[in-house]
Amino acid sequence: MKKLLAMIMTSIIFVTSLTCVSVSCQEFETRLGFVVEFNGETIDSASVIINNTHYVPLRKVFEKMGAYVFYRNRDCQVLALSRDGDTIRHIVGSNIIIVNGEQKEFENPSVLENGGTYIPIEMVSAALNPDRILYDNQQLNIQKYLFNNNYHKIIKDVLDVCGSSNFYPERFQRYIDYHVKMPDYSMQEVIFRVNLGLDYSFYENATTIEQPYDLLVLVNKYFKLPEGYEQYNLVKMGREYTVNDGKQYLLAGVAYEKYIEMSDAAKKDGLSMKVLSAYRTENYQRNLYNNKVRTTGKVNADNYSARPGHSEHQTGLAVDISSTKGTFEYTPEFKWLQKHAHEYGYILRYPKGKEWITGYSYEPWHYRYVGVDAAKIIYEEGITYEEYYAKYISQNEFR
Ligand SMILES: [Zn+2]
Repeated sequence: MKKLLAMIMTSIIFVTSLTCVSVSCQEFETRLGFVVEFNGETIDSASVIINNTHYVPLRKVFEKMGAYVFYRNRDCQVLALSRDGDTIRHIVGSNIIIVNGEQKEFENPSVLENGGTYIPIEMVSAALNPDRILYDNQQLNIQKYLFNNNYHKIIKDVLDVCGSSNFYPERFQRYIDYHVKMPDYSMQEVIFRVNLGLDYSFYENATTIEQPYDLLVLVNKYFKLPEGYEQYNLVKMGREYTVNDGKQYLLAGVAYEKYIEMSDAAKKDGLSMKVLSAYRTENYQRNLYNNKVRTTGKVNADNYSARPGHSEHQTGLAVDISSTKGTFEYTPEFKWLQKHAHEYGYILRYPKGKEWITGYSYEPWHYRYVGVDAAKIIYEEGITYEEYYAKYISQNEFR
């Protein structure tokens, strides 16, 4: 099975790179073009003329104009960030360029020549909005006035850190906006917070989760389970593990196994953990949330209860634990969990002092199964699952 998967993966990669390269395989009548100048300075790659169309080296021109250029291998996508704050996207071999989300179509596609991407001259004008483009028999001269007002200084601050590994070029505008909004934060703080989604209000621009059955799924006020999502791989817990109120308590396969192991280990230490809540269906969560809104108001409900689709309990990977010895935070069971939960792959999901990241009030009773490896890192680094996700799981594909 693994071998088959590896074969499929290899063929995907092969096909992708083939799409990238295929443009250069076409038969072109190519001749060397003009010297390219930007504001009087020569760019060290000349343009080329293919079938009477003028092409300029994309990266060289963009960089000369002060833009930063990134590349994503998966789809051969070039992403450039300009000094004007524009985000320019282009897939090598296509005739489309997207400037700040707005799509512009051209007659000729870009081509690969000698390992570099060349774009037709009209794409340059559309993308970097120069003030003048002059041709004569020997040279191509691009001119652009470079402004340096307050907004450009802000953009410069952001571009200055665009080489750091946690900088996501596709979040360029969000970094700029948040830097404007929070001028006292360092750029690293701005990037850290935007990467956690904190530039948006909770539930604003929520993203639907693409792989809801992934063990490391992040479900919070920014990431929503798809509508109608249901967990199927559920195991019913024995009554001795629960508050035993006649209700059924279910957890997802491996989360169940590790929970039982953990509960048994605590029992050996003379403790008794009782499950108070485990798997919940979407409908159950909806009723729970609506009841909370009705009885305590929306603000309070949002602090303690998740909106439907946003609850970890719907994955079967989260569990609320109680003890018969009073307020959970002060029980020996809680103390034991603080010390040992990570050994079984469980983490305290909503810790004290991290409400601004998790979006929830401190919940000493709510634990999430993430597997032993992730739990160990989260425990040792003292971070939330959101921070772990941004640091270790989120993929930064643009290089
Ligand atoms: Zn809970």
